[in-house]
Amino acid sequence: MQEGTLLAGLPRIDAGADARGPRRLFVKSYGCQMNVYDSQRMADALAREGFVAADQPDDADVIILNTCHIREKAAEKVYSELGRLRKLKDGAATAGRRVMVAVAGCVAQAEGEEIIRRAPVVDLVVGPQSYHRLPDLLARAELGGGVVDTEFPAEDKFTVLPPASRAAIRARGVTAFVTVQEGCDKFCTFCVVPYTRGAEVSRPVVQIVEEVSRLADAGVREVTLIGQNVNAYHGAGPDGRPWTLARLMTRVAEIPGIARLRYTTSHPRDMLDDLIAAHRDLPQLMPFLHLPVQSGSDRILAAMNRRHTRADYLRLVERLRRAQPALALSSDFIVGFPGEGDQDFRDTVGLVEEVGFAGAFSFKYSPRPGTPAATMESQAPEPLKVERLAVLQAAIDRRQAAFNAGCLGRTFDVLMEKPGRRPVQLVGRSPYLQAVQALAPPQMIGQVVPVTIVEVGSNSLFGVVNEASGRTRPEPLAAVPGA
Ligand code: SF4
Repeated sequence: MQEGTLLAGLPRIDAGADARGPRRLFVKSYGCQMNVYDSQRMADALAREGFVAADQPDDADVIILNTCHIREKAAEKVYSELGRLRKLKDGAATAGRRVMVAVAGCVAQAEGEEIIRRAPVVDLVVGPQSYHRLPDLLARAELGGGVVDTEFPAEDKFTVLPPASRAAIRARGVTAFVTVQEGCDKFCTFCVVPYTRGAEVSRPVVQIVEEVSRLADAGVREVTLIGQNVNAYHGAGPDGRPWTLARLMTRVAEIPGIARLRYTTSHPRDMLDDLIAAHRDLPQLMPFLHLPVQSGSDRILAAMNRRHTRADYLRLVERLRRAQPALALSSDFIVGFPGEGDQDFRDTVGLVEEVGFAGAFSFKYSPRPGTPAATMESQAPEPLKVERLAVLQAAIDRRQAAFNAGCLGRTFDVLMEKPGRRPVQLVGRSPYLQAVQALAPPQMIGQVVPVTIVEVGSNSLFGVVNEASGRTRPEPLAAVPGA
């Protein structure tokens, strides 16, 4: 999860430019990579209309909050942010400048008209399936009265949304996210996604290949294919038949310039045989997989409607590691799910130790209105959730520290992404998504170079570029102590 401001590679102008100059856009993006991607696409759509990036909300003519519904009290946090924006909007109006406020993302989809009722500062509420209509919706909202569009329109937004300009792609760096599917049909009992993002829909292969080709052409070297349930991907191939994610990645890997591929987020039930085999056969596919399990207890997994058992998950991990011995895994966990007993929780901590995750996200369960788990009996008390989260997080941290310590002395291919804080220092990513800092010239940005790890810090690894190595894949993790 991440939270932040998105400047989205739009052209920039000085904050003090003429008021009759280009209109300025500020997007604040919350939550997952899918929102980061959506924010970029909204920015691309408005760039076509002549918008440029504002550095801060105070300078913007249009402010979009691209919201996330996953975190606790998500809607309340949006309303308090809107309270701050009301003051900003009032101040701008006093100075004779009109500011438009839009709410997008999953909170927009879930709350709809309620947002404008509770926060009249909002001019537009737009759901994730309507971003291609954003320029028209903004024009309508300018007439006043508040506009709400949370439909699931018949037209495919991806065929209408304009592609990013070459300049925008370059400004965003050498890695990129590409949404390949949206929505989810799994209906885990704690999750709002099937309600906010709707049924699972996959983009056609040709559309994705075109988008990745444009990215590669502008210098992107690593693409992460994203979706709420990405390995349920079944988009139409050029042959008219549904293609699996593995087949899609094999095609994307052929695009000149694409050195690395990743995908997220996956459901264990959708790890098909060809996807497991891709971890063995596709050199561009990085040996790092985020595979949420949520709990180590079969009783809780059933209550969550996860449709897999602890044993299923362990068998899957074993098959993946047999296919790709260098594979490292991360996961998501929820503690304090309704009815979770001491033994259920111990089973979860035990699973962390048994799998040896290289990292994981863990959360306290918090009810989402409208989901089945929200009304289940035996809701856990807050202090118990806090205590369990601390215990689980400590177990995850220990495994992560052991994994990172095991990287010392090893040589990884690192994709150099951007300048570091020190002169002639670059920051890149290892195959395992660890930040790696090394002394290297700026012209190495965008190159995949072998780096030998000489120091392990708390947030990043430090390495020395080792041009003689020529390694293309990491060694099996069996060689990594503590992994
Ligand atoms: S698979 Fe993921 S997105 Fe789908 S319902 Fe479960 S948690 Fe939500």
